[in-house]
Amino acid sequence: MKLFIVVPVYNEEEIIENTIEILKLKLSELILSEQIDNSSRILLVDDGSADDSWGAISNAGVLDKKIQGIRFSRNEGHQNALMAGITYAYGQNADAVITIDADLQQDINAIDNFIIKFKTGADVVYGIRNSRKTDEIFKRFTANCFYKIMGILGTRVIKNHADYRLLSRKAMEALLEYRETQLFLRGIVASIGLVEEKVYFDVKDRSGGESKYTISKMVSLALNGITSFSIHPMHLFFT
Ligand code: UDP
Ligand code: MG
Repeated sequence: MKLFIVVPVYNEEEIIENTIEILKLKLSELILSEQIDNSSRILLVDDGSADDSWGAISNAGVLDKKIQGIRFSRNEGHQNALMAGITYAYGQNADAVITIDADLQQDINAIDNFIIKFKTGADVVYGIRNSRKTDEIFKRFTANCFYKIMGILGTRVIKNHADYRLLSRKAMEALLEYRETQLFLRGIVASIGLVEEKVYFDVKDRSGGESKYTISKMVSLALNGITSFSIHPMHLFFT
């Protein structure tokens, strides 16, 4: 199984070297235990960082060919960075891709379970956080409101799942057929209709730096989710 671990990176110079080291260790562990093929890679997608994140990524790539990087010329947003990574991995004949944030808030040890689920036939494996206790009250509140609205609109979203997930090649193919520009990957993936599984993990605090999801980025993501999968918002607009 050729696995690509795709990591979106935006202004993460404080933590990115450490993240790469930790993911490198994880990758070699998985290769040594023959869970994944030696051709597996870690792919960092620099989403137009204004700091020296790219410097760290390219240094790591020079030292180790298992580290690869893509760089956007400007900040296109987390969802677009993920999509670029998945598209690239698909082009490199990956059998599966796992997307994970650069701050490693999501427990990387869940990757083993993602792989087990993939090998037993799942095309989409959702990482589900065990609790929202590391979230500030505001974030917890807005997340709950968001799930309520999505429920009312009848859009399928998996609760407490963000963008930590595995996609099989078949799932990547289905995803790449979408020609969306305002991406809300959680919604698209949940509508693909292939074999699904869930893996639970504990959320940690950010390994360093601040959240790169500004309020306006959060609102715009939520609006994409709300308007992309239901015609109710359009009906409302005309009444
Ligand atoms: N990120 C990105 N582009 C952006 C904002 C964030 O690629 O415009 C990346 C960021 O570097 C991280 C991931 O998306 O790898 C999630 O962001 P963050 O951890 O800041 O979000 P939070 O966990 O606070 O919701
Ligand atoms: Mg985070």
